[in-house]
Amino acid sequence: MQKGRVVKLDRGYPLVRTESGALVRCEHATALVKGEEVRAVIGDFVDVAVPEGHDKGIIDGIRPRTRAFVRKDPTERALPQVLAANFDRVLVAQPLADVNVRRLERELVLAYETGAEVTVVLTKADLAEDEEHVAEVRDRVRALVGPDVQTLVVSENDPASIEAVRQLVPEGTVAVLIGKSGVGKSSMVNMLVGAAVQETTPVREDGKGRHTTVSREMVSVPGGGFIVDMPGVRGLGLWEADAGIGAAFSDVEELAEQCRFRDCRHVDEPGCAVRAAVEAGDLGEERYASYQALKQETHDLRERREEARRMRGEKASDSRKKSKPRKKR
Ligand code: GDP
Ligand code: ZN
Repeated sequence: MQKGRVVKLDRGYPLVRTESGALVRCEHATALVKGEEVRAVIGDFVDVAVPEGHDKGIIDGIRPRTRAFVRKDPTERALPQVLAANFDRVLVAQPLADVNVRRLERELVLAYETGAEVTVVLTKADLAEDEEHVAEVRDRVRALVGPDVQTLVVSENDPASIEAVRQLVPEGTVAVLIGKSGVGKSSMVNMLVGAAVQETTPVREDGKGRHTTVSREMVSVPGGGFIVDMPGVRGLGLWEADAGIGAAFSDVEELAEQCRFRDCRHVDEPGCAVRAAVEAGDLGEERYASYQALKQETHDLRERREEARRMRGEKASDSRKKSKPRKKR
């Protein structure tokens, strides 16, 4: 048995770098994936056996994760999907000239929820009209993310801006990069590495139907640690996100503490400090709306998970009923 780390997912097969430095394509041990589906993701530390005469290694165990990037599985009703594990920083990329605030808020919630350091990277700064435009967007984003989160401005043709990103990925650390496809993530990774290690794709003029690479890879940054580009992160449905929402909307949650009712929904309750702030113009209507929508999303998901649990529970008791009727409570 050897220890190793998943450095790439290759059409579903984890590629593991073992302690001895070998790269081994792996499958999961049956015992690991039976019942509860546990699969190794990029960044996972694993135990690997390479049976003699086998071309693939067998992942026998996954070490507990210090961090995980989790979203709701886009293909399932109420299951989590882990996209990466054991990283130190999340870099949230948005195009400077076309920041999508709603998406940024969601990305920040997911990033904060991991407990990692968070940095916003505004890309393609060269597409801004002028310096004033750059400063205006940067200040707007800084106001949104608060003083604790660094906001960088980068451009492919400004090496100094890329160096600032390198400083955020020091040796021994791992950063994951999220953001809509086309924002320039691969280009940034290539600049950091100084070679074309990630395929970049020209954005189609209508902005639709681009094919992106689906493989996720831990790329070694010269003079630094590792960076994981997470392409194809299309749907970013929230999973557990209360802490993430609390961090991304600390302004709203501070107001909520002043509401008269502890379980205030901030809709039409008397003494609602959140609504009062909206009426007074201290809290933007749109920010209020996205807070409410994200809260609702986690609420709905919780209900679905409860329901799924009840269904499983009922099935189990159904089979028990046959042999031994349950006592009335
Ligand atoms: P990804 O999908 O996030 O990995 O985005 P890519 O790195 O593939 O970039 C998408 C498109 O944006 C490509 O055509 C790049 O050449 C272009 N691009 C990337 N970075 C920059 C930049 O700093 N400035 C400009 N003008 N274009 C860029
Ligand atoms: Zn309220």
